[in-house]
Amino acid sequence: MGSETIKTGRLANGETQKSVHKEKRGLSSNGMNGKHENLGSNRAGTSSSGEGYDLMMNTGDVDGNLDGDIEPVFKKARQGDLTFQDIHDNGDFFDEDEEDDSDWEPVQKHVELIKWFCVNCTMVNLGDGAVCDLCGEHKDSGILRLGYFASPSSQDAGCSEVEFEMKGKNKEMHSQLSASNSSTAIGFDERMLLHSEVQMKSHPHPERSDRLRAIAASLATAGLFPGRCYPISAREITREELQMVHSLEHIQDVELTSHIFSSYFTPDTYANEHSACAARLAAGLCADLASTIFSGRVKNGFAMVRPPGHHAGVREAMGFCLHNNAAVAALAAQAAGAKKVLIVDWDVHHGNGTQEIFDQNKSVLYISLHRHEGGKFYPGTGSANEVGRNGAEGSCVNIPWSRGGVGDNDYIFAFQNLVLPIATEFAPDFTIISAGFDAARGDPLGCCDVTPAGYSRMTDMLYTLTGGKLLVILEGGYNLRSISSSATSVIKVLLGEGPGSELGNIAPSRAGLQTVLEVMKIQMNFWPSLGSSYAKLQSQWGAYCNTRKQIKKRQRTEPPIWWKWGRKRLLYHILVRRLHVKSKGKPSLHSS
Ligand SMILES: [Zn+2]
Ligand SMILES: [Zn+2]
Ligand SMILES: [Zn+2]
Repeated sequence: MGSETIKTGRLANGETQKSVHKEKRGLSSNGMNGKHENLGSNRAGTSSSGEGYDLMMNTGDVDGNLDGDIEPVFKKARQGDLTFQDIHDNGDFFDEDEEDDSDWEPVQKHVELIKWFCVNCTMVNLGDGAVCDLCGEHKDSGILRLGYFASPSSQDAGCSEVEFEMKGKNKEMHSQLSASNSSTAIGFDERMLLHSEVQMKSHPHPERSDRLRAIAASLATAGLFPGRCYPISAREITREELQMVHSLEHIQDVELTSHIFSSYFTPDTYANEHSACAARLAAGLCADLASTIFSGRVKNGFAMVRPPGHHAGVREAMGFCLHNNAAVAALAAQAAGAKKVLIVDWDVHHGNGTQEIFDQNKSVLYISLHRHEGGKFYPGTGSANEVGRNGAEGSCVNIPWSRGGVGDNDYIFAFQNLVLPIATEFAPDFTIISAGFDAARGDPLGCCDVTPAGYSRMTDMLYTLTGGKLLVILEGGYNLRSISSSATSVIKVLLGEGPGSELGNIAPSRAGLQTVLEVMKIQMNFWPSLGSSYAKLQSQWGAYCNTRKQIKKRQRTEPPIWWKWGRKRLLYHILVRRLHVKSKGKPSLHSS
């Protein structure tokens, strides 16, 4: 599964075949129909396998019609735009090697290069090893069937007896369940799995349908969904609702893609014929979850949706995002009667779209924690100085990390000293979390270190804020194991399970502390309650800053860790990647 055998020198051909194969597998595998047939999905027309067949029949169009067809919706990325393109380029040096094979002609018949992409982290692996070099996932692991409960290092063994028993039990629980004001609702529709990149590039796109498959499989195996959570029926958002957030031109651009086999808004933001529908379903589910929660028909909810939304601005799709789901949900909550809505965005990237939509709106407070690194980390916006404008100053709070590797302690420290004090002063009656899980430990794009326990702690801290009226919306997150264990932890908190052990004193990193102090200094102009704690923190942590400095200096004299690694290929990976990124002068996705 997910592997391919390529004879040297025939890469292009092999990849075309693989992309078709992958589409077909994506649509027909995994038993999603069986698992969620009671979700109110009313897919018209063709069956799963029928759609797969259509794609196979259409592949002839790719070469002939692509250039002309994508013209209306292809918006050329502006010069200097930061994109996720780097991750596509990671595989380039392998391709170059494979094409430059003339010297090897005599042995070509006997050499077969096995190249496969890890199902868990998408990284390319060479050779006949069965386990991913980067994340340790077995190439035929059961992660898409059992979620993160599957053993990472061994092949999927098929259904066990325990599993059958559990599935039966889940169904039973599910049939007894109906919505009540104490239940947790889940928004999901399998048509969102059809949104995928048609063109096969040197690397699979990280925003792929397996993300939802892995989360759904984890929730099913844990008995949470189907099981303890309540499914809400899917609805496509209307054009009128979208126009409250997006320009008509943007909405029409997205609609147009449903007539085109493959198109791109930016080099990293793809669409196929199903993308517009998937985006309308994602936004519709978020809107309905928001109004259902606010009106008290359910207690809280989780939107298991894609494409993600927080980079989508008023008139622009970008960063894998087509429509801004969180913004649509915030306005739906307000239409249902909410006066003040809080959006906390813990995706590792700044939600530039959400900020743009609300930065003049005092009734929506947007707080984002993200890697920023002086604007070098995608999308480059979200400095602490961006606070909202035109009378809405303070309605935008950016907490911009200055480096990668940020972990639980820094996040929780920022929650204790910024997010909660500001949110309490704002006093929202509805809270939305833009929950990307790409700051999770193991994420190939985010390269941070937040654990499932950290995510459940943050959820718990926001949970109490608005009497539990909380909607969690999936944004990014690209390591299947990390996103599905994190999402499961968050949903357990929504179901009323506490986050575990009590919090001791949280010690932030020096860089994390500096960021928090910098943001406090700016935001205390708009949120007076920060004033006293700012002075206190400064005196409390001033000495700590100095001692940490000395420790850091001592650590730097140690030999670099990779000298201790025995595997030459890992070293090669890292060196080539570094050089590659440097020579292009783009920000590295792997910097830390
Ligand atoms: Zn991997
Ligand atoms: Zn964010
Ligand atoms: Zn992200």
